[in-house]
Amino acid sequence: MVDAGVPGEESIIENQINALGFAPENCKFIMLTYGHTDHAGTASYFQNTYNTPIICGIGDTTLVFNGKNDSLCAAGMLGSLFKFFIPKEYPPCKPDIIVEEQISLNKYGTPGKIIPFEGHTEGSLLLQIGNVAFVGDMIRGKAMARQTPSLHFYQCDLEKNKSNIENALSLNADVWFTGHFGPLKKQRIIQWLNSDPYKIEEEKN
Ligand SMILES: [Zn+2]
Repeated sequence: MVDAGVPGEESIIENQINALGFAPENCKFIMLTYGHTDHAGTASYFQNTYNTPIICGIGDTTLVFNGKNDSLCAAGMLGSLFKFFIPKEYPPCKPDIIVEEQISLNKYGTPGKIIPFEGHTEGSLLLQIGNVAFVGDMIRGKAMARQTPSLHFYQCDLEKNKSNIENALSLNADVWFTGHFGPLKKQRIIQWLNSDPYKIEEEKN
């Protein structure tokens, strides 16, 4: 399971897992792409109910221990607006596996790897399985055109964010599943980067 929604979504997620033909108790792990309310919200529930191990980046362990967001740097107007509606706290939990460097998931029976990508938060993680990557909030899709890449609502360091996307492009993942909207095709992300979206954002600010 990649990410765990917002608090209150427990039964929605359970129903979705069941609808896919799996059982929540058989879930081998929850990997948190990072430790904010909208990604780690039900992790504690799954850990307590099903003993699902939680995988978290080392830089985000404090967030997850405390169940609290750190400050959000809005990268545009939508981000500033949404800030007021985002819950700031969630049930805290103790991660079972803390990721400091790239790890293989072979021992969990999944042919994938988890790669730390400090940026959106200190402990942000990316999961790659074959040519698919789960990138969390490194980038997002547009709300009304989900497969069109867009600068994520919250990025504290735009330079770092840009170089993370460039580095992630070198992973040979053709499809990126994002925390919000998407999925995005690699080719579209390259085109988007070439349009210099960071410059436009700087000018707006
Ligand atoms: Zn998010």
